[in-house]
Order: sequence, then structure tokens, then C-alpha cells
Amino acid sequence: MDHFEYRDGVLHAEDIPLPRIAKEIGTPVYVYSRATLERHAQVFADALRDIPRKHIAFAIKCNPNLGVLRVLARQGYGADVVSGGELERALAAGMAAEDIVFSGVGKTRAELAQGLDRGIGQFNIEHEPEGVALSEIAVAKEMTARAVLRVNPDVDAGTHAKISTGKAENKFGVGIDSAPAIFDRLSALPGLKMRGVALHIGSQLTSLDPLEAAFERVGRLVADLRAAGHSITHVDLGGGLGVPYRPEDNPPTPAEYGAMVARVTKDWDVTLMFEPGRVIAGNTGVLLTEVLWVKPGATHPFVIVDAAMNDLARPALYDAWHDFVAVKPTGEKMIASIVGPVCETGDTFARDREIDAVQPGALAVFRTAGAYGATMASTYNSRSLVPEVLVDGDRYITVADRIAAGTIMAAERVPDWID
Ligand SMILES: *Cc1c(COP(=O)(O)O)cnc(C)c1O
Repeated sequence: MDHFEYRDGVLHAEDIPLPRIAKEIGTPVYVYSRATLERHAQVFADALRDIPRKHIAFAIKCNPNLGVLRVLARQGYGADVVSGGELERALAAGMAAEDIVFSGVGKTRAELAQGLDRGIGQFNIEHEPEGVALSEIAVAKEMTARAVLRVNPDVDAGTHAKISTGKAENKFGVGIDSAPAIFDRLSALPGLKMRGVALHIGSQLTSLDPLEAAFERVGRLVADLRAAGHSITHVDLGGGLGVPYRPEDNPPTPAEYGAMVARVTKDWDVTLMFEPGRVIAGNTGVLLTEVLWVKPGATHPFVIVDAAMNDLARPALYDAWHDFVAVKPTGEKMIASIVGPVCETGDTFARDREIDAVQPGALAVFRTAGAYGATMASTYNSRSLVPEVLVDGDRYITVADRIAAGTIMAAERVPDWID
């Protein structure tokens, strides 16, 4: 459920008609709904009602906008961060250091030190040398790092290969079979409090089965680690729950996910940690765009919009589908390919799709663009960096400015030794 609805034939974000944002801010622009964001955060938290001890850390890589993070901080969410930059964002947004989990396969020593200095709640160790480095840094600072070991449970998440992370051949975590020995060695190191394990098998999962299989493997690992004398108090179950991108998509609901988790983990006696991203933010945003041209094509016309792959990369990167609807639909339909202005054939949002009939000057949105949207934007083709707007009832504010191509250019220089 979201708060992007038609009123008198015009698409609104909460109480704001989208043409007003297009006029005042320009296009392309991301538009987020605070009410939708809060609702999703609440629904996910409610779904975990039956879990006695838990911690929810929003995977901020999917939408690190400070305004968005502040909304979630007020909902009691912590953050799952994957870089020093994200760590600073979580703190700047008002999340408590204690509520921050540091994931990521390539943390630098500087980032490990930064996490310690900031007093974050937990490091998710991706492999043994990282744990050794964290121990050394913590000892030098006379501190103790709370950590869990990320394991790779070797299950097929059944999602797009580029967002699958839990197969043996993926770069993430340590093989679950080698985990007990690595855990033993890391536990013996000074400055490191190894308190549990973590996993995250992929994103946009549309079935609970791979998650359940992975959790069961991790449950057996927890029992093995305890049998070996370790105190296991935390298990981080990662994120990955899918969202509907097409009307016919039917991913598991947070409630179904919560029930499965409660059933599988009922005897674990740990604090369960969650790292949801897309399921919280995906449906809270749209990318508002204007149709520039409608150009005849070999079979069907091309609708050329002013948003491009640099603003919303998912279709080019993962062949992802985003619904495209007119802000003022006429009721007529057309079959067209939707493309952006970037000089790449990959700059295609949809091929030969039935869409609302649109003409040059019409406004339209790509839906479900609140996760892995603006955060992946670039300035490719010397385009501006796309701005973001947050709507709250009948008011809105620009939560990220458009960064003009000229501003980017101003950070470059021509060497004076090239004459
Ligand atoms: C990306 C990521 C997530 C969030 O994934 P979603 O599919 O957006 O829920 C959670 N944990 C880790 C470690 C990640 O890399």
C-alpha cells in the first residue's frame, strides 16, 4: 500500500499534485511519501511482534537520503551500513551509534577504526583476516569490538544473479562449513567479542523457501558453535524481502516472513537482527519525469523521457521492471518502448510495453523507485544529479538538491602542463 493516488484524474503524492512538484522543482525528480515510508516501517516491525528480542537496522544503501533516514530513525530503526560514508549518514540522521551494524565485504582498516571510534553496535565480519585486523585495531585503541561472523549458507536465492549473495561462488561471508573453525580462532583474539553469526542471501527474494533453508542451516551452526563452548547471543538474518514491481507480482508479505522467522528461530534464544532495505523504501518513491518526444520506431514508437539510466539504473543493470503511468492519464493506451536521452541502447526502461498514451510535455512516473533509485544515480553524459523530494501531507521539501553538471565540472581541472 502506498500514498500515490489519483485525485480528479491527477496523480498525487499524499496531498500534493505531482504537476506542482514538476513545475516548482523540475524533472526528473524522485518523490518520496513520508506516510508510505512510516507505514512500511510499521508493518515490518509489526510482523516481528512474536520475536522476543530483536533489532531492526535499515539497509541504508537502498536509500541513504538524510530526510528518509530521519523518518526511520524516529520509527526506532537503526542502520545497516556498508561504508564509512554510510556510517556518517546514519549518525547525521540521528540514529544511535549503538544501533548501527557495519556490513560490507571490503571494509578498510580506516573504516574499521572509524566504526570503533564512533562506538557502533556491531561489526559483521566477512572473513578471517578482517576479524584479525579489527582485533589489532581494537587492541591498539584499548577497545572491544562487538562482532558476528557472516556466513555464506550456499543457497540459491532465486533472484537476479547480480543481487544474489548467498551462493558458495558469491564473494560474501565465509563458507558455512569453515565457519566453526574460523569462529574458534576469532573468538580467541583480544579486543574482539564474537557474539554470533550473520547471513544475507540476496535481494528482491520472491519466495520464503531459500530464506527458510538458509536460516535452518544457520540454526544448526548456532547449535554447533554452542556445543563448542561459544556464547551465541545474536544472529543477524539480513534483508532481502522482495516487493511487487508489476501488478501481478506477489512476493511474500512481511507478516508471512515474520511468521516463518518466528517458527524457524523459536528455540534459538538469541537477539535476532534484521536488515530490511527494499521492502521498507521501494514503494515509498516514484521517479517523476516528463515526456520529451515520441519518435516512430521499427515496430512501435519510442517514448523519450527526460529521466535516463543515470537517474534510475535498475532497468539497465538488472533488466528490472518499473511500472510507468501517466500523471494525467487520458484513458487511452499505446504500445511503446520507453527510453531516456543517454547515448546507450541500455538506456531503455521498457520495451514494447502497453502504457498510458502520452504526448510530448506529458508527465509520468516510474513507480516503486524508492529503493536502489536515487542512490545509484550518476552524472553520466554530463547530466545533472537527480534531486529528491519528501512529501508530508500537504507540504513537501527538497531533501536533495539537483546538482548541476556545471557544479560537477567545477570540481575538475585542466593541468597547466597541457598547453
Ligand atoms: C543490500 C543488503 C541488505 C538489504 O537488502 P534488501 O534486499 O534491500 O532488503 C541487507 N543486508 C546486507 C548485508 C546487504 O548487503
